[in-house]
Amino acid sequence: MRYELVINGLDHAWRKEFGCQCARCQDPHRTANTSVSLLIWNEDQLYQHILIDAGGGVTESLLENPVLQKNPRLDWVLLTHWHADHVAELLRIVLTITRSRKRQHLPVEPIQLWLREGSRMWLERQQPDVLHKMNVISSLEFSAVGTLLEPIALGLPDLTITPVTLAHSSADIYPPHGGEYLPCCAGFILEQNNYKTALLWDMDATNLWVESPKLEQLAAFDKLRHCDTLLIDCNTWSCYQNGNGTPASHISFLMIKRLVRVLEPKQTFLMHISGHEDAIGDGFGWTNQTWQLEATKAWELEGLPGVVKVPCIGTRIALEYEVKDTVLALA
Ligand SMILES: [Zn+2]
Ligand SMILES: [Zn+2]
Repeated sequence: MRYELVINGLDHAWRKEFGCQCARCQDPHRTANTSVSLLIWNEDQLYQHILIDAGGGVTESLLENPVLQKNPRLDWVLLTHWHADHVAELLRIVLTITRSRKRQHLPVEPIQLWLREGSRMWLERQQPDVLHKMNVISSLEFSAVGTLLEPIALGLPDLTITPVTLAHSSADIYPPHGGEYLPCCAGFILEQNNYKTALLWDMDATNLWVESPKLEQLAAFDKLRHCDTLLIDCNTWSCYQNGNGTPASHISFLMIKRLVRVLEPKQTFLMHISGHEDAIGDGFGWTNQTWQLEATKAWELEGLPGVVKVPCIGTRIALEYEVKDTVLALA
């Protein structure tokens, strides 16, 4: 099997704003909310398609993918959480795939949907239709931040996807009978053939637990260290707090630098990028090209591990080590 991630979108919730003259709002390129497709290949055949998040613009990105044009398949959707910028097009995607398969006389099976219980409760309220059209698998837990959940039962021999709980305060919910907020957000760790990829979004400014993990967070810390590829929430350049002094509901590039120092990934991709959440100054109105330039500068200046990249819609990331030609040493 061969594994490949395709970027469907990398924007944060509010992609563009009316009347805004910033370079990001004026950029003519199409945008989409943060989402990736994991394509699994058996020789030349697309064997499975696992979609992670389904926010605005993602249907168009899937439609632009020549692989899916030829073979419109979707086996799983994994949701990080229930916020609109991660679920807004879920129903549209499920219906578009189903209609396309019917027209091409391909078999139609229910698509599996994995999500945390809190996100399931929200979707049940907001989009009951889509839950009834999918085969829903809830994590059935409200574990604290930094917990590894049961790997998702994909039934694939050489791929494991382990969800890890993230703190994302604005997505947490009140339990039905009152009490503390319950967390709803998950990141994912993909492991196959000794290759490790972590997808970490959305996460708030309290996710610095990796710098000094508690005993019960050590398993998650170990799994997140030394990834070959890390895709991470980079909502702002430097914002730590909301206007009212509460921790920001996303991490900033400043925090990413602290996280990669302890996690030491080989390559880091910035996702969930915004244009307006930073105050006027660094980060405000930056296009993805400016983000790439500034991030690379910071990486080099501070000697951060591996490389940093800002992808674009359609970027393909092969989840494999480079195959080097074997050179036979002659005695
Ligand atoms: Zn988001
Ligand atoms: Zn969110």
